[in-house]
Order: sequence, then C-alpha cells, then structure tokens
Amino acid sequence: MNGFNEWRVTPSNTAKNTYNPIRAIVDGMKLTPNPEKAMIPLSIGDPTTFGNLPPPQIAVDSIIEGVQSKIFNGYAPSAGYKESREAVAQYLTKNGSRTKAEDVFLVSGCSSAIEHAISVLLDPGDNILIPRPGFSLYRTLCISQGMQVKSYNCLPERMWEVDLSHLESLIDERTKAIVVVNPSNPCGSNFTADHVRDIIEVAKKNKLPIIADEIYAGMTFKPLEFTSCCSQSEDVPILTCGGISKIFLVPGWRLGWVVMHDRKNIFGEEFRRGLMSLTQRTLGACTIVQSILPKLLENADNEYMDKAVGLIQSNAEIAFSRMSNMRGLKPVTPQAAFYMMVGISLRNFPKFKNEVEFTEAMVSEQSVFCLPASCFDYPGFFRIVLTVPEEKLKEACDRMEEFCNANYVP
Ligand SMILES: *Cc1c(COP(=O)(O)O)cnc(C)c1O
Repeated sequence: MNGFNEWRVTPSNTAKNTYNPIRAIVDGMKLTPNPEKAMIPLSIGDPTTFGNLPPPQIAVDSIIEGVQSKIFNGYAPSAGYKESREAVAQYLTKNGSRTKAEDVFLVSGCSSAIEHAISVLLDPGDNILIPRPGFSLYRTLCISQGMQVKSYNCLPERMWEVDLSHLESLIDERTKAIVVVNPSNPCGSNFTADHVRDIIEVAKKNKLPIIADEIYAGMTFKPLEFTSCCSQSEDVPILTCGGISKIFLVPGWRLGWVVMHDRKNIFGEEFRRGLMSLTQRTLGACTIVQSILPKLLENADNEYMDKAVGLIQSNAEIAFSRMSNMRGLKPVTPQAAFYMMVGISLRNFPKFKNEVEFTEAMVSEQSVFCLPASCFDYPGFFRIVLTVPEEKLKEACDRMEEFCNANYVP
C-alpha cells in the first residue's frame, strides 16, 4: 500500500447543490436601516422572535418533568415511543382522519418529515409537484439529491387556490407525488373542504400520492375551518407531515411527524418498512420532547390555541385593512397560519426595478423589513409575518404608508 499523496476532501455534490433561496436572496440585499428608526422585522417566520407568544405552560412543565424523571435519557425506538406515536394518532383522529400509532413516525421537526416523505417516494430523476408561491425547502431537498420539482400555480385572485388544470398539466411519468401545503406558508391561505377534495380528485385520477404539509393544522382564523387532506381521502394514499413547531410556538424543540394514511393499502407494507428504515438513519427524534406529546396533544384544543390564533387573527385584520388602503399595495386576505402576501403595483413605483429593490428601500427609508416573495418563487409580492406585537405592527403600518406615499407615482 503506497497511500495517497493528496487529501480528497472536496464537499460532496449533495452539499454543493444544497441551496436555500431565502438565504441567497436576503444575503445579497443591501439592508441598511434608517438610523433614526428602530428596525421592525416583519420577515422572520419564527413566532418566538418578539416574546409575545409564549408556549403553553403545560409544554414547559412537562419538559421539566420529563428531564427530572430521568427515564427518557436513553434511545427510543427509531420511529418514536409507542405512547408518543399513539398521542399523535389520537390527535390526528380528532382532526377527522382515523390514524393508528403504527402509522406515525416521529422525526426532528416537520422539515425532517418532509425529507423522509421525499426520500421514501423519490429516486434521482423523479419529480414532485410543489405550490408556487411556496415554501422553499422542497426545492432545496430535491435539487441537492438529483430530484426535480415542478411548480403549480396558486391564484391570488382565488384566495390562493390551486390552478387545478395547471397542476394536472405538469404531471409526467416521473412524477411521484403532489405536495399540498395547507394552511400555506407564505400565503396564509386555508383551503375549503371542497377545494381539498378537488385536489384529491386530481391525485386520484392520476394515481399519485399526496404529501400533505399540515404544519399549520388548526391555525385557521374564525369562522373558517381547517380541512386535513386525509380527512377527505378514501383511497388516495397520503403522507401527512406535521409537528409542534408552529401550533405550540416552539420551533426550536424540533419535533415533527410523518404519518401514513393508506386506507386502501396502496403504499403497502414494503413502503411502511421503507419509512421505518429511513427513521433508523438518525436513530429517532429527541426523547424528552417526545415524552411531552401525550399531555400536550390532549390539551391541544384548549383556550391556549384560541388565544394565540386569536392574537394572530387580530393582527391579520389590522394589517389587511391598513395595507388595503395604502397606495400601490394589494394585500391578499389572510385566512390562517401567520403570514400575509402583499402585491406591489411596481409600475407605480418606477424607482424600483423589482420587489427586492422595493423591500430594500423600505429598510433604508423606514427600517421595516418585509421578505421579497421571490424567496418563494413569486416576484412582484412581499410577505409579512403577523406574529409581531400589535403596537409594533401598527407602527410598521404607519411607516409603510409613509413609504408608499413618498414613492408612489400615479
Ligand atoms: C415552518 C415550516 C416547516 C418546518 O417546520 P419545522 O417543524 O420547524 O421543521 C415546514 N413546512 C412549512 C410550510 C413551514 O412553514
């Protein structure tokens, strides 16, 4: 053995091809706030940023109990503790979808659930259909592994409903699933039961499973109601991805789930074993956080959720009514989650070439940062986050109004 003369330590193609469009766009922006005004970030999709939305007390108490009991320090089974999987199954059954514990696989956050769903369904060269505007992780995960994504349009004039004929036109022989994100990040939309059924109909006709990203399940503004994909499907197999990050306002706790709904046994047992094998790659999710699921999910419908969602809804109403009256802006009514998309009439703001320059200038003039929706593959819009304290939101609206008035050209 002569050994080698050179180290061979270049990053893998997967690493080199892993690309987060939000970072790529935001890192390229000139973000210099106006020194006279304190920065108000309406850009960060983390509800803990301002400290006004604490997690439920039961979550905090049960974490402490879990640590003190010292019984959750070892490895759990890689798909999760039986009791914790059972708790998720019961919780989803309450949402109308008859789930059993063995259908639930606990993972590190919904991001990891999405990764598992993609890994179990796709080989390199295969593709999935994803919403536009949409959450960028799907593209990031697929492209880095040699898989493709095709974007189907969601229509602002129809509350971001899916353009079903466009969706169907994208299907080819390498298409392995339709991704449905409902409620939506970045749109803040919530599909009606009828619309959910229409999407399922397209999946059924084309014999495609659905990946249902329902991380915002239940965060729907009154009097609207959330409809899960699996509650509406008799035969289309569905992988539901969810978790506690958003509904319990603890994104840092990293606990999510991917759940098989397969009433007609189309995925089958081999597929279930495949999903099980994938959970063995990481030896499962954090045991302490798993341990709180029974208590936390049993209390999921209580006042706590109503209060948190109520606060976000009230912000949504304020932001929508204020921005509807600003020159050159056209917000789309938010219905759920904690986002609102706002269209910019760019021809009335000739100083700015696109939504990136527009949002950059809003930072330098008014110290308000909204995310350009090119981050979500949707130029001409920006996205705001609605979890800000009300006073800050109102202040941000005042400044945005000033910004529009200063730059608008009829
Ligand atoms: C936040 C978010 C996720 C990721 O959730 P984690 O549990 O924090 O990994 C997945 N999908 C959508 C649409 C999201 O907004």
